[in-house]
Amino acid sequence: MGYKSIHMSHKITVERAKESKIGEIDFKNLPFGKYFSDHMFVVDYYDGDWHDAKIIPFGDLSLHPATSAIHYGQALFEGMKAELDPDGNPIVFRPLKNWNRLNISATRLAMPTIPEELFMNAIDKLLTLDRQWIPSEPLSSLYIRPFMFATEKYVGIRVAEHYKFAIFTCPVGAYYTKPVKVYVSEKYVRAAPGGVGYAKAAGNYGAAMMPTQEAQKMGFDQLLWLDGIHHKYFQEIGTMNIFFVIDGVLVTPGLDQGTILDGVTRDSVIRLAEDEGYIVQERDISVDEVINAYHEGKLEDMFGCGTAAVLSHIGAFHYKGEDYELPDLSERAMSNKLKKRLMDIKSGIAEDVFGWNHTVPVGVYANQ
Ligand SMILES: *Cc1c(COP(=O)(O)O)cnc(C)c1O
Repeated sequence: MGYKSIHMSHKITVERAKESKIGEIDFKNLPFGKYFSDHMFVVDYYDGDWHDAKIIPFGDLSLHPATSAIHYGQALFEGMKAELDPDGNPIVFRPLKNWNRLNISATRLAMPTIPEELFMNAIDKLLTLDRQWIPSEPLSSLYIRPFMFATEKYVGIRVAEHYKFAIFTCPVGAYYTKPVKVYVSEKYVRAAPGGVGYAKAAGNYGAAMMPTQEAQKMGFDQLLWLDGIHHKYFQEIGTMNIFFVIDGVLVTPGLDQGTILDGVTRDSVIRLAEDEGYIVQERDISVDEVINAYHEGKLEDMFGCGTAAVLSHIGAFHYKGEDYELPDLSERAMSNKLKKRLMDIKSGIAEDVFGWNHTVPVGVYANQ
């Protein structure tokens, strides 16, 4: 519990919202990312350190028109989820993995890193203050969105010396409710070795918007990206890592090229699958291999996974004019089992064998 020792300059002050907006929310019918909890955390970086850490009522930020992130893209984000365990305690799923990835993204974008104690304290305090915003309905959770961007008021291109890091939260329901149809892109590329594919950089999403929109106009939910060099190996889906089950073996692209995101859900699925005794392979997997497996009747499953959607089955994929239909959900024993176990751990129902959940400590007084 190293983050308990708080550097003085990182003390978090609290200004409570005068009125809660919680009465306006229908917790039985939560869209993704439309409602925002009462408070947010904000901290500014200047003179080589983070200053003025505070929790304030959720509201607009005011920005100088030359704010460098808007022009040159030093901007990144994270995403994780909190739920209430059966005793009503807020639990956050693997926040230190998100903290670690945030700093990996920041380093790639020449942005400052966030100290662990500041990150964890901000989350503990925010969730203590907005505890009643954590939904207790099944499949619902509190989505936590940390983000950082350069705030330099300067139009020249250089690494900024001023940044803002903030966290807000949103109560959310289930993300995709039915199996997704994905389009395998032969034309567009998301990332290449040496690039920023492994960073949760805002710009990765900006670059993916138009190709994704084209796929959606053709009736697909998401793009399934291929590698940037050979246009042959699967990478990931827009917001999710990709898994295949071929002849009983769970296969997912490896992280070694630095072109895909090191998903927390991906890592959790791999570890749970190994724990269940399945064979897991992290390796290159080509479209040809998957289509051959399909024709031989060995392509048993394809699914995506990420914090927002947890585990989403793929109903069909499209490649070079052909649609390939995946088996009925009832036949996808491995992913159904992994999904259930992962969701049960995240809700504090199943035993947390890997020690993944962070329980927000009782007595983190918001105005301390
Ligand atoms: C966030 C994200 C994922 C999923 O990562 P999780 O940590 O599981 O939420 C996968 N791919 C991309 C491109 C992402 O941005």
